This record gives sequence, C-alpha cells and structure tokens, in this order.
Amino acid sequence: ESYLTRLKLTEPHLKSFLHVSDQVLNEAQSLDLQIERNENIGPLAGVLVGVKDNICTMDMPSTAGSKVLENYRPPFDATAVKRFKESGAIVVGKTNLDEFGMGSTTEASAFQVTANPWDVSRVPGGSSGGSAAAVSAGQCVVSLGSDTGGSVRQPASFCGVVGLKPTYGRVSRYGLMAYASSLDVIGCFGSSVADAGILLTAISGYDRLDATSSKRAVPDYTSQFISTELLDSKPLKGLKIGLIRETLGNGVDIGIKSAVLGAVSHLEELGCTLSEVSLPSFSLGLPAYYILASSESSSNLSRYDGVRYGNQATADELNALYGDSRATGFGPEVKMRILMGTYGLSAGYYDAYYKRAQQVRTLIQKSFKNALDEYDILISPAAPSAAYKIGEKKNDPLAMYAGDIMTVNVNLAGLPALVLPCGFVEGGAAGLPVGLQMIGAAFDEEKLLRVGHIFE
Ligand code: GLN
Repeated sequence: ESYLTRLKLTEPHLKSFLHVSDQVLNEAQSLDLQIERNENIGPLAGVLVGVKDNICTMDMPSTAGSKVLENYRPPFDATAVKRFKESGAIVVGKTNLDEFGMGSTTEASAFQVTANPWDVSRVPGGSSGGSAAAVSAGQCVVSLGSDTGGSVRQPASFCGVVGLKPTYGRVSRYGLMAYASSLDVIGCFGSSVADAGILLTAISGYDRLDATSSKRAVPDYTSQFISTELLDSKPLKGLKIGLIRETLGNGVDIGIKSAVLGAVSHLEELGCTLSEVSLPSFSLGLPAYYILASSESSSNLSRYDGVRYGNQATADELNALYGDSRATGFGPEVKMRILMGTYGLSAGYYDAYYKRAQQVRTLIQKSFKNALDEYDILISPAAPSAAYKIGEKKNDPLAMYAGDIMTVNVNLAGLPALVLPCGFVEGGAAGLPVGLQMIGAAFDEEKLLRVGHIFE
C-alpha cells in the first residue's frame, strides 16, 4: 500500500508508467492467505516489480512504447516475468521507454516523456527511463529493463540507482520484443546491488524457448550479500582493476571524471590494485553498434505489418495496408533506424557497412577478452555526462548517440556490467547522480555483485 500511495503521488510529475495494474492489492492479499495456510510463498513474495513495456505481460498492455502495438495484450508472460511471479513477486505496472528501445531519454516514446525524479526538467535516460525513474522515486522495489546498447546502465546512472546488465544468454529473451537480437538482454534495476542481484537470481537460467539462453547453472547471487568480509579492512585485497583509459578523455564532463576517480581511490582503499588499461578499438564501438543494431532492427521490425497484431490502417490493397500500417504506427526515430539498417544491409553497401561493423565487433570482443584475462574488473563512467534537460538533444541524434559511447562496447562483447551510484555533479536543486560502470568477464556476475556490494 505504501508503494501504491507513493506511486499515486509521484506519477503525475514523473510519468514513469504506461499502465498501472489494478490487481496489486488482490495479489498481495492472496499471498496473505497462502501464509495463513502455511503454504510456501516464494523468496520475492509481495515484492513490487515494474516491467519495461517491451517485455510481455499476460493480459496487460505491452506496447514497446509504440503506436504500432497500441492496445496489444499478449496471451503469455515473458520467461523473466513468469519466473519472478513464481518467486512471489507482483507486477505493479508497465514502464515507459523509447519506442522499441531506440533512444536514450524516453522522448522517443509514442505516448509520454518520463521525468527524472532528481530534477523533473531533465530526462531519466533511456531507453529504460521509466523503469529507472520508478525505482529511484520509490514507486516500486525493483524493475526490469532491457539493454541493447546501454538502456539499463545509462538510465541507472541518470537516476542514481543500481543497474545490472547480465551476460548475453544469462536471462531468457523469450517475450522481450526484439530490437537487435544479438545484443538484447533483459536487465535489473534496484536501489541496492543486493536488490539487483536478488532479482537476477529469480529470472536467470536456461529456457528452451530461447535458443541463445545459456545452460550454465545459475549460482545463488544472493548468498554473498551476508558476508563477514565487510569486517576485514581490505575486503577486496588481490583484486585487479583496470581503468579504461579511452573512457576518461575528451568529451567526458569534468565532474564525471572526478566522481569516477574518487570511486577508484575508494576501491584502492578496499584493497584493489589499480592500473590503467588501453582498449584501442574502444571508439570504434559506437559506429559499429549503430550499424549492427539498426540492421538487426530493420529485419526484426518487419513483423509489424498490421496483420498479425497492433495498429492496422484501412486500405483496399495488401501492400498499401502494410505500408500505411507501418507509416502510421512507427515514430520518426524507428523509421530512421529502419532506413539506416536497410541501407547498411543492401547489396551495394553490405561489405562497406554491415560486414565491416561485424569485423570491428570481433576486434572489440578480442580486446575485452585480453583485458579481462589480466584484470578482474574493468572500470569506466556509465555515461559521459549526468542527466541533461528534456529537449536538449532531441533534434540532434548524433549528439544523443554519442552519449552511448561508454555502454555499447559491452553489448558488442556480450559481457556483464554493473552500474552503481558513485557521487554527484552540480545541477538541479540537489545535485545530479553519477554512475560508475564495472565490467566483468562473461558469466562472472557473481564477482561484479560482490565487488559492487562491498563498494556501496
Ligand atoms: N541508446 C541506444 C540506442 O538507441 C541503446 C538503446 C538500448 O540499449 N535499448 O540504440
């Protein structure tokens, strides 16, 4: 009830949710009955979860922030949602996003712009801005987002919460509406590292409905949160941290740099050894990402033809029906991505764009692998700036894309990364949060969570 009250009071200013469930109290009451009957309730019993609206929830709207899916109610739950429900958690509602996850601010949502709870004249980040704002404002306990190029980590940084992007394949993508299938992952938001880890434990693991989900056993990510290590003055002794040189150069706000360097000296106090590491291919990540993500999206979004689901235009001829449904259903950012992607994949340009971007992706994977053979964790800012004003970059897509420089490489390499608050810069009435990004080796979420937990 207290979360619902908070939601009701803050939602008119924030607009984090596209849909709020009217079943929350009923579901909570049925948990009470289960307790009375001494039945087993799951480890997340009664925990309220916000779910990004590109993740399918049974009998609830799931629009991906697009007019093309307005009024669509899936007849099934995404695997991640099914799993947290089996642990007793309750869906509080569906959170706002940039249409199909394409954007960094939620301004590309077809329905509304979400505000940053730290300063409502600023963006919450994106594309999972609704999920980040909801946790930051105490509208729910934890939330799910999706991260194709940073959409969990950058909004976590802008809203001052913890954001966890798991290894590609750790969490099933079944029921996540595809943007770029080789990059997409479902990730977790929480107000602490422990909360994000608890949610990850609930949703991870192999799923026969997603052929790219991993068969590796899921460790109990929660076990390490009750730890006597904290009593030790150097709990992270022996841990090797690599600070990525290319992430602290030009174009990164001075306040961000000093917050990150402050975090780094805290890690040293905790016993880590620190060196700078160079990833020479780092800056190639951004162009490679935008070519690959757009190319994959142009293919994935061909399913929205107005026939199977969603927005259907009236037309007397089939091609006109497809064309008009798409023309009226998709917003401008999505159309631009489809055009870019189709261009990059077309016969005359394939070698120059798509193929080249794939080669760059391999280079990036190798350079991360080499660095992570030597270091336990790599460190960078989560974003080159703190949250900026609503409207500030809306008409400058390249400036907006440039803000993804810190995060896209991690998706190209398929690695896990944790973002957590590490300080503030000036701005708004009370300062604006800064996020630190910790990148780990594939399937080593445990180490990220342990280090993050001790750090915070
Ligand atoms: N901002 C990036 C994009 O627009 C990342 C989005 C995401 O991770 N879904 O593609």
